[in-house]
Amino acid sequence: MSLARPAAGPRPRGAPLSGRSLIRAHVITYGCQMNEYDTHVIHSELVAGGHSLVDHPRDADLILLNTCAVRGKPVEKVVSLLGELRKERRGGRRLTIGLMGCLAQLEEGRTIAEKFDVDILVGPGAIPDVLPAIDAVARGEGRQRSLRFRDDLDKLVPPAPDALTGFLTIMRGCDHHCTYCIVPSTRGPEVSRPAELILREARAMHQAGVQEVVLLGQNVNSYGLGDPELPSFAELLRMVAGVGIPRVRFTTSHPMNFTSDIIDVIADEPNVCSYIHLPAQSGSDRVLRRMAREYRRERYLEIIREIRAKVPGVVISTDLIAGFPGETEEDFEQTLGLYDEARFDHAYMFVYSARPGTPSAERFDDLPKQVKVARLQRLIERQKHWALASNRTFVGRELRVLVKDLGRDGQYAVGHSDQNHTVLVPRDQLQRMGLARVRVTHATPHALYGDVPGARPSAVPLAMAS
Ligand code: SAM
Ligand code: SF4
Repeated sequence: MSLARPAAGPRPRGAPLSGRSLIRAHVITYGCQMNEYDTHVIHSELVAGGHSLVDHPRDADLILLNTCAVRGKPVEKVVSLLGELRKERRGGRRLTIGLMGCLAQLEEGRTIAEKFDVDILVGPGAIPDVLPAIDAVARGEGRQRSLRFRDDLDKLVPPAPDALTGFLTIMRGCDHHCTYCIVPSTRGPEVSRPAELILREARAMHQAGVQEVVLLGQNVNSYGLGDPELPSFAELLRMVAGVGIPRVRFTTSHPMNFTSDIIDVIADEPNVCSYIHLPAQSGSDRVLRRMAREYRRERYLEIIREIRAKVPGVVISTDLIAGFPGETEEDFEQTLGLYDEARFDHAYMFVYSARPGTPSAERFDDLPKQVKVARLQRLIERQKHWALASNRTFVGRELRVLVKDLGRDGQYAVGHSDQNHTVLVPRDQLQRMGLARVRVTHATPHALYGDVPGARPSAVPLAMAS
């Protein structure tokens, strides 16, 4: 397989291409915010290698798929796109294709890559290997793969140009072994990045005008555990808050190490968002045990009570899995009961998806699909009920909203509050994207609507931000 415009003559692997744009590249991102951050790193690598980025895949010589493998659905999407790209290549299009991200790391991904003639296979721990791989393919050296976990966490990642939100990875990998989850296989063991580097990246974001930084990790509150040289997550959070970026968020937290000092920082530091995402997965101790989650229902509720007591107006969301193998009707009702007791403001709910190679897929029988889907439906109903109740309590209040997009119909500008609500504001009330004060006038289960107090319709069209 050759590139549309091959490199001129041999040069050292990975060496910069003397500032010339040799390849027009497009990266397609699936999955979580960690993948969005990884795509930013991939972009930086490509640009450092002298390649150019194009906005549309049809204009690209190189398409990289930064994949997710947590559930079966995103894998199906990747397979379908690879099928289309293979058809285009068979029709004569000269195109190099790379599979990156979590799927690339798995046997499943290798089989898919083989089937669809993927040129480059690079796992999430080996992102810097993508440049040498591109060069090698260009030299006609055939398919390239790198699936090692490279220790590249000491590298400073510059902020994305003109971004209002900056993603900042503080740790990679996961040391938990939830029986349903593929992440420990795809992202490897937990490694925390040096605190000084994190602070340098945060300061660079502040200088670049970033309005919101999101600290990322599979379990951010495990940051620094086991390394006496590193601060705890609570200490790190306080340090990042001190940098001065108007808004600091973090995700994802794990109930196991969600200690009181983290709650205290959220309560004390005005720029740390009063929004916490704390995945529960199930309300049944029997199911939590089979999932190998290290806490039980009562401990989980204890954390929720402490958060609500210390952080007034806090918004709490969670992740829940419907239809884990062996989940009985009674187990499921305990999850519904947990929802009512915790009064989650929002939830991300998933039907259990048996992922090849995970302990639950190997050891337990999957429940019938209609049982799982019916339970998900009941969870969604519960979610809508509590989300509406929670959102209504914000009507009449003034919130700080980071406005970054235009709604699909073009009538509204869309942003997120400090408590992570989706907030819609008539677009003609805003002069520019960024932080705005918004008075909430109306609530639905999914969003808040509001006005900018004292706003006069703007004649200047709003531009999109990142
Ligand atoms: N590390 C976080 C934690 O433990 O809470 C979550 C990270 S995981 C990538 C995101 C969510 O995907 C999980 O909280 C879980 O609800 C869901 N998930 C993971 N594996 C799943 C599976 N096999 N089937 C359905 N949902 C799954
Ligand atoms: Fe997956 Fe569990 Fe690790 Fe979260 S804690 S990434 S759910 S193994």
